[in-house]
Amino acid sequence: MITILSGGTGTPKLIQGIKKIYDQNEINVIVNTLENDYFSGVYVAADIDTVMYTFSNMINDETWYGIKNDTFITNEELKKLNSPELLRIGDKDRALKIQKTQLLKTHNLSETVDIQRKKLGIKSKIIPMSNEKSQIKIVTDIGELEFHQFLIGEKSGPKVEDIVFNNVKPADGVISSIKESDITIIGPSNPITSILPIISMKNVEKTLQKAYVVAVSPIIGNNPVSGPAGMFMNALGYEVSSYGVASIYKNFLNKFIIDEEDAEFKEKIEKIVDNVEITNTKMTNIKIKEKLAKIILNKYKNKII
Ligand code: GDP
Repeated sequence: MITILSGGTGTPKLIQGIKKIYDQNEINVIVNTLENDYFSGVYVAADIDTVMYTFSNMINDETWYGIKNDTFITNEELKKLNSPELLRIGDKDRALKIQKTQLLKTHNLSETVDIQRKKLGIKSKIIPMSNEKSQIKIVTDIGELEFHQFLIGEKSGPKVEDIVFNNVKPADGVISSIKESDITIIGPSNPITSILPIISMKNVEKTLQKAYVVAVSPIIGNNPVSGPAGMFMNALGYEVSSYGVASIYKNFLNKFIIDEEDAEFKEKIEKIVDNVEITNTKMTNIKIKEKLAKIILNKYKNKII
């Protein structure tokens, strides 16, 4: 069995590669929940839905948000009613979110996601990091903002001064999944807003220290491949580089995979992580995604399909 820690863009790209080469019944994904919130009357768990759509081959993999070829009739109607949406939710995508909202009246998030992933025919387990409600807040020069308000409402414009979130309790299955896995993979996700919330939960870091953990850097040179990871790392005082990412994970990392463009930093990173591997991590097509998946799972050749 393998466990993957995920946000909603970089790691899902890697999951597309992993699911092609590994038995999907043997994959568990622990997904960040601290960006979840209600929008337009529905519960939006964007990262969880992206992971679900990635497994069910429905994902819009240009935006890494919502369903490919979706329509936006309801979204347009809401605009006409003078209720524009902060998040542009597609019609089919909204159906899953409406169902999630209804299920949450009688089930917790873990149960809700498990019902939905089975309906979508997904064999892998998708485990929300927590069933407790909490949210990341971005402290900026114009005040404290909700994550999506910062990202979409303010277009990541304000100067980031701090990132704050409460520690929540890991959902059932988080600790046991890591314990029972041959390998735990930290995909190239935003280390501050996607991964830090997961690894900051009680007992997670302790469990990772006893596990075999491989991470892929989401930073190449001094920039993230996409999104605001750079400004968030900077705000928390980390160098925006693969070295900076390694310094966040160093207490439990067995192997760190960096991009070939960062080959010159291998020696520096090896001072804090034992094993550093260099390859192309720019996942621009399925062949590259599969190749990266094979490099990560190399030790488990017998289980690769
Ligand atoms: P979010 O929830 O949408 O923020 O998504 P994630 O946290 O899963 O992923 C965001 C991170 O993925 C960003 O920091 C990007 O730099 C990284 N990323 C996206 N695509 C790639 C890629 O092809 N290769 C690598 N190495 N990183 C990537």
